[in-house]
Amino acid sequence: MRIALFGDIHANLEALEAVLEDASQQGVTDYVCMGDVVGYNADPAACLEIVRAMNCPTVKGNHDEDASGNHSLDSMNPVAAAALEWTRLQLSGEQRLWLNRLRMVRQVSDFTVVHSTLDQPANWNYVTNRFDAMSNFSYQFTQVCFHGHTHVPRVYMKSDRVSEVPAESVTIEDGAKYFINVGSVGQPRDGDWRACYAIFDLENKRIVFRRIEYDIEKTQAKIIAAGLPEMLAERIREGR
Ligand code: ZN
Repeated sequence: MRIALFGDIHANLEALEAVLEDASQQGVTDYVCMGDVVGYNADPAACLEIVRAMNCPTVKGNHDEDASGNHSLDSMNPVAAAALEWTRLQLSGEQRLWLNRLRMVRQVSDFTVVHSTLDQPANWNYVTNRFDAMSNFSYQFTQVCFHGHTHVPRVYMKSDRVSEVPAESVTIEDGAKYFINVGSVGQPRDGDWRACYAIFDLENKRIVFRRIEYDIEKTQAKIIAAGLPEMLAERIREGR
């Protein structure tokens, strides 16, 4: 069985469609979504409807939470807040309710899924190094946990100590635990603009990261046409 782990779509329809097409060509039969379906880019409703129709396990991201509520966004950075105010207006009440009801943590097969970290999932902590990953491992009761949130693919491994191993392809070894960031479909921040997701081959215990080109000019044009902040169109090309 091959499972696609994908998230941080951020309303980028072209990237989402390219990832799903690649996954199907790769023989993926099951899908799990790390959250942040909406926010930043110009197609929140279309992306939400695709993910909802897939009926796959999906956890809630911070942008899903912010887009589904009515609370003030004043404490957020102004670009993210402007995009979220816009996103709220694009979604129906029923779509916002779907986002709001997403769960923070899911167990799927024998692995766990969370948007940020298992230690305090509602605090939306960012894991950017092995020290940040340590507190997650104390709350990780499955061998493998997938997450997103930083938009940077990363693999943290805990055996006698916590280390970071290259996010290319990983074979799950007995006696170790893995906390794996699957990167971002719609707004990668590792300097590579291509959409990122991961495929978990359960039989071979192997996880492979995929980078997929998509029609980024179309996505950029939609961001500008929607009146969203222009830097959102620039950053997806720069991968930051
Ligand atoms: Zn995100």
